[in-house]
Amino acid sequence: MNRFAGFRTFISFGGSEIYGPFLPSMAGPSDHHVSSCHAEVNAIKYALSLKGIRLRPKATMTKATLLVTRWSKHANANTWQLEDGVPCLSCLKFMSAKGIQNIMISSKSDERMHAVRVSDIIASSRPSRGTR
Ligand SMILES: [Zn+2]
Repeated sequence: MNRFAGFRTFISFGGSEIYGPFLPSMAGPSDHHVSSCHAEVNAIKYALSLKGIRLRPKATMTKATLLVTRWSKHANANTWQLEDGVPCLSCLKFMSAKGIQNIMISSKSDERMHAVRVSDIIASSRPSRGTR
């Protein structure tokens, strides 16, 4: 495929505090097309490891916003394009379990980020096929 694509996730607390980008982490070399941990999960795990958040995880995470972006780059054109960055069902469930309620998702059609609630998109999401 003559094209690159990628996920980047950021996590923001009140807009003034933002961490990222977080990338998916890959499985072993024999299986390098399958990511073992999606970028969203990496962002949440990192936030939960921070001292200030570790003390009050749920209270802090309910105020967090997870920014989930996906982009693509065509090899022949030096331009980047936003793609639909809707998280997979397992990531959405992980967010929900950790208290994350608000996320922003990149959209290909209008090339911007959309604020959505995790609970609103869980029903319409699909399980991961491990192709990230
Ligand atoms: Zn995922």
